[in-house]
Amino acid sequence: MLNYDEIKKVDPEIYEAIMNEVERQYHNLELIASENIVSEAVMEAAGSVLTNKYAEGYPYRYSRKTGELKYRLYGRYYGGCEYIDDVERLAIERAKEIFGAEHANVQPHSGSQANMAAYFTVVKPGDTILSLELTHGGHLTHGHPLSFSGNLFNIVAYGVNKDTKQFNYDEIREKAQECKPKMILTGASAYPRTIDFAKFKEIANEVGATLIVDMAHIAGLIAAGLHPNPVPYADIVTTTTHKTLRGPRGGMILCKEKYAQELDKWVFPGVQGGPLEHIIAAKAVAFKEALKDDFKEYQKQIVRNAAALAKALMKRGLNLVSDGTDTHLMLIDLGSEEDGGPSGKKMEGSLDLAGITANKNTVPFDTRPPFVASGIRLGTPAVTTRGMKEQDMDKIAEFIKKVYDNYDNEEKLAEIKKEVQEFTAKFPIFDYLRK
Ligand SMILES: *Cc1c(COP(=O)(O)O)cnc(C)c1O
Repeated sequence: MLNYDEIKKVDPEIYEAIMNEVERQYHNLELIASENIVSEAVMEAAGSVLTNKYAEGYPYRYSRKTGELKYRLYGRYYGGCEYIDDVERLAIERAKEIFGAEHANVQPHSGSQANMAAYFTVVKPGDTILSLELTHGGHLTHGHPLSFSGNLFNIVAYGVNKDTKQFNYDEIREKAQECKPKMILTGASAYPRTIDFAKFKEIANEVGATLIVDMAHIAGLIAAGLHPNPVPYADIVTTTTHKTLRGPRGGMILCKEKYAQELDKWVFPGVQGGPLEHIIAAKAVAFKEALKDDFKEYQKQIVRNAAALAKALMKRGLNLVSDGTDTHLMLIDLGSEEDGGPSGKKMEGSLDLAGITANKNTVPFDTRPPFVASGIRLGTPAVTTRGMKEQDMDKIAEFIKKVYDNYDNEEKLAEIKKEVQEFTAKFPIFDYLRK
């Protein structure tokens, strides 16, 4: 069991900040769609002695003659890696088992670095990439000018259909035929609907592009069979491990055998140095948890909770992008400036004053700048980990509606915060850490 007695002695300032964060996570209603609460076992692995070890390279090597991947063939640049090798091999095997992948690289420090290594495996600077527009749910690393992706590649963006706010595959096909991309990228940070990866593969084949799927948000749902798996279709699949998958903060890449060697080279030494083996151990533990039946049940509850929350919000007159969700997340569309009411930024601040944590988000065809935005993104992974069920989603929708109706009334927001904290106290976490 973790305690922070040593930090308390050695560094009281950091200890205090950690304890404050424990209290914040305990009291607040966590609705950020990309966050979760990991198990104690995952935290123990992340806090283990493996942080002391350098292990540049891999626990395997490719045979010069056949190209075959073989374990225990001195694939590391440092000695003393025999136990580290066991850790990384277990993480790799479990990742492959969960998603049915031919090859897994568990070293990426983050989702962004996973994407960088994956892109370099199939495209060169200057090549054309067709990817999802950020304001329609894409990610910064899918081509934003401030990201390496927008700097190095020629990005053409596709979006959602104006009426349905969902992908229209004929429109995407047309875009692909126009721009003839070398690579097509799909996957999203704020798209609430099922993605048809088979359709994307069809389009990629038609224009001779490789297909990369970034399943960062929905990896847990896919692991449990609740969303179609991109692995059979995509050339390369990237993900984070800390969102619905409920592992430590980090990234991972899955790919077809034929990309394995090139991809491994792009992760190390291409974009990273020594792997974080304590985090890889924590990934292995999380993957073991993800192979169990109760993880499947947990993911089902995430989806049921998201459906219940969406319904309860719409019942109270709030608009959702695409009128609902198939996944763990949804977007409240707050309307434009002329409609009156709060912006995304304002609403995020008001929710915060009421003890509810969520983030502002652009909605498709948003008329406000991204830093203000007209939407709020909500997700159910963290509250589901705390044990909340459908009837609790109705209560949460009630809180959000009250905040919406009183978004400029700080006194009222403080009252709501008290109610929220009474509510979250019924779903305790970190009891062993709290004073
Ligand atoms: C979260 C996310 C990432 C990036 O993950 P980091 O670990 O924050 O770098 C990449 N792609 C998508 C679709 C994401 O949602």
